[in-house]
Amino acid sequence: MDTLVKTDFLTGVRRLFYVVTPNETYAEHIEDVPKYINEAAVFFLVGIALEFIVGLLKEGKSVIRLSDGISSMTAGMFMVLTSTFLKGFDFPVYFWIYRMFPSVNMAWDSPVAWFICFFGVDLGYYWFHRMAHEVNFMWAAHQVHHSSEDYNLTTALRQSIVQRLTSWVFYIPLAPFLPPSTILVHSQFNTLYQFWIHTELIDRLGPLEYILNTPSHHRVHHGRNRYCIDKNYAGTLIIFDRMFGTFEAEKKSDRVVYGLVHPLASYDPMYTQFCHFEWMWQRFWEVKGISNKLSIIFKGPGWEPGKPRAGLIEDIPDIHFPQPKYDPILPLWGSIYIGVHFVLNFLVFHFYLETVPSLTAVPALIGMLHLLFSFTCVGAICDIKWYAPFMESFRCFLVLAGLTILDSQLTMLTNLSCMIFLGLRIIFLLSAFMWLPQCVQYTIKEKIMKQE
Ligand SMILES: [Zn+2]
Ligand SMILES: [Zn+2]
Repeated sequence: MDTLVKTDFLTGVRRLFYVVTPNETYAEHIEDVPKYINEAAVFFLVGIALEFIVGLLKEGKSVIRLSDGISSMTAGMFMVLTSTFLKGFDFPVYFWIYRMFPSVNMAWDSPVAWFICFFGVDLGYYWFHRMAHEVNFMWAAHQVHHSSEDYNLTTALRQSIVQRLTSWVFYIPLAPFLPPSTILVHSQFNTLYQFWIHTELIDRLGPLEYILNTPSHHRVHHGRNRYCIDKNYAGTLIIFDRMFGTFEAEKKSDRVVYGLVHPLASYDPMYTQFCHFEWMWQRFWEVKGISNKLSIIFKGPGWEPGKPRAGLIEDIPDIHFPQPKYDPILPLWGSIYIGVHFVLNFLVFHFYLETVPSLTAVPALIGMLHLLFSFTCVGAICDIKWYAPFMESFRCFLVLAGLTILDSQLTMLTNLSCMIFLGLRIIFLLSAFMWLPQCVQYTIKEKIMKQE
């Protein structure tokens, strides 16, 4: 736990709301900028727990569905895991541009530069976010964030693996003037700020609604009601939506329904990340002519031949209540199982992040693939896929083998470590054998069906 908590409580909470001063966040070099987002991980968990408890007390039911919450948090962890390998071009390019224009460079410890960067990054985010909704190949990445049919703090963590490959371009206009370290500070706080606005438990916030992006404004952004489509792209300030004509206030008379216009209906983390790319690939080969093919990539996700660039609002399906959600029902033991194994996977994820800087490429890659596979298994159980028992029992035996090898190689283990090792081996042994009857049952059923 001590490695999870990197700041004192008040500082951690202030950072989530962007309440920081220039003095405490100045950094001369990019290496000096703390990983504010990683350091906030424990505050994300506390926020989610708090929302769960307040939701229970206020609504009388859980505002977070287990499978959906796990799916959202998994997307966030996939993003962090792959970022070790998917380094963008962002900072090398910012450095290059910054050094090309020394006469307009601002100092890293200038309060004026700090405040200009605050507005500049937020304006850059607005245009990135708008393009991420209006240009199909960028939407293919960003749709991950919109793929939950729920709206709670876990939804904030539902992030794309590949979005970083395009987002950095929108901050290039800042690069001649502002030090890359200042851009990195503000881009992290801009992201952190957007965590708390993903909740239904906070109503409108009076005069703050005019200036700030709030839960109410962002609920509209996540809606699939017609009036919500392509609205409220804000990061921290809502003023840019008001300036550029994309602002829409929440309507109490038209309850927001969340998620994609065509719901995903899957908890498979890889499918969640790449399904729209797959759809684009199919459409690219289906449509005739180079102009139409390019339009599939560069026009809006709702575009079809003969329609306007952003598609037609009439094509957005009507909302009828009650609006059913994708919700495969697991038995109680299944929910407990995925809860336990998700927490174990999370702890391994945290341990991996702590150790990966000291690892060479091959063990780092193996560790990452193992974690991706482990979370994919949890997703398959949530989806009640036929192959989930096979995948999961294979994974449990794999972990058991890994623990046995590790146990035999590690010397000088404390009593506590020995007990943890033993506990983990018992959990994975029981888990592996738990799935075997289902594997046998499925195989027999398949054989009988083939004979018939
Ligand atoms: Zn969006
Ligand atoms: Zn959001």
